[in-house]
Amino acid sequence: MIVCKFGGTSVADAATIGRLVRIVETRLDDRPLIVVSALAGVTDALLALARAAYERDAGKVKEGLDGLARRHASTARELPGGEVALDAIEEDVKALASEIEGTTGRMPRPADVDAIASRGELWSSRLVAAAMAGAGLSPAWVDIRPIMVTDDRFSRATPYTQVLNKRARECLTPLIDAGLVPVTQGFIGATPDGVPTTLGRGGSDFTAALLGAALSASRVEIWTDVDGLMTADPRIVPAARTLRAASYEEAAELATFGARVLHPATAMPLVRAGIPIVVLNARRPEQPGTTVAPSAELERVGDSPIRSISWKKGITVINVRAPRMLGAFGFLRAMFEVFERHEVVVDVLASGEVSVSLTVEDRSRLDAVVRELSELGEVWLEDRRAIVAVVGIGLRHTPGLAARLFKAVQPANVEVISQGASAINMTFVVREEDGPDVVRRLHAEFFGAC
Ligand code: ASP
Ligand code: MG
Repeated sequence: MIVCKFGGTSVADAATIGRLVRIVETRLDDRPLIVVSALAGVTDALLALARAAYERDAGKVKEGLDGLARRHASTARELPGGEVALDAIEEDVKALASEIEGTTGRMPRPADVDAIASRGELWSSRLVAAAMAGAGLSPAWVDIRPIMVTDDRFSRATPYTQVLNKRARECLTPLIDAGLVPVTQGFIGATPDGVPTTLGRGGSDFTAALLGAALSASRVEIWTDVDGLMTADPRIVPAARTLRAASYEEAAELATFGARVLHPATAMPLVRAGIPIVVLNARRPEQPGTTVAPSAELERVGDSPIRSISWKKGITVINVRAPRMLGAFGFLRAMFEVFERHEVVVDVLASGEVSVSLTVEDRSRLDAVVRELSELGEVWLEDRRAIVAVVGIGLRHTPGLAARLFKAVQPANVEVISQGASAINMTFVVREEDGPDVVRRLHAEFFGAC
């Protein structure tokens, strides 16, 4: 069997859902399981609803709910056979309205926010299943929540893999064996008690990978709106090229450092079983896309040792200087315990004799982190920074590479440099406004014309 995951842009409206159905038709021999995101923009709209309720903005709540109900209803009506989804969606919108009423004026609890945010995938999967039936396929709509059992860290819940593997095999395999095409939701899950959770923004890719691993899929297809993983973001570098193949490690590095094509955790469940991920463009299904696999023949792009450049803005650099760390042990541990306690993820780390610089993206718990770090040494922050990550083959072992990189990055001021032990990435921190130029100059240096 295979897993086909369709992102928000591939289920944006009746036209894109129609295209999805035609793609699924070409995959029937592979026994597909379909995982969908919410319609494009719907998760954001649902989160905005939760905020509006908290702000007691009744007008905005009503407008938001009506807008969502209208958009899903008109999509259903436009799809041949789509009307069968109408009842379930309407009922669910009503349930959502009364739930939101319940949160009005109080800070929504993380559990409330997840219950609200998880609606988008429930609705989109109803539409897709109806459209597939309308086209003569045999879909089976499946509520993933009793299968995708997670802990209760709302908005970033972690699935319990063993339970999920077992339930996925029990619930989904018989459907596939019966010749049906299961259609289910990405991104959402539930605690063992059935309280809805979400896996984090962009988490539908992760759902697809988890289900692919559970069912020993022969591949996991991620359908999106770009041709695959690229040498750079084509909006910044029009000459960017698509990579035909990538390793799991590269895909994870690229995702972590800003290439928004894949969720960073996607490769994780698939590595051990060696199940390939194929990133495909739903607008151009005839294109080969990028295959992410262990044995992927990593072609060099031209004669460049580098394969891709990504960047991510909205980064804060935290610097800690503590003369007493010179020759002392336990200092880094004490520092990282602060980040661990506050569950703040560190992306890049560079350390000198008496100072450490690290980068974080999430600023929500920064005050508390800085307060505690100040007990260890002098702390100062630099915000509005960007990480530029260069991913390539054997970067550590390529003579002269660092010089070429630096020449290309100039005249931007590089503030932190770090190189992972994996020898496949090198990261720079620059000012946010310098990011796009640095990416363009690096691309020109290593891949030619911009
Ligand atoms: N709909 C969710 C989001 O917008 C999950 C996803 O699309 O992967 O983050
Ligand atoms: Mg996505």
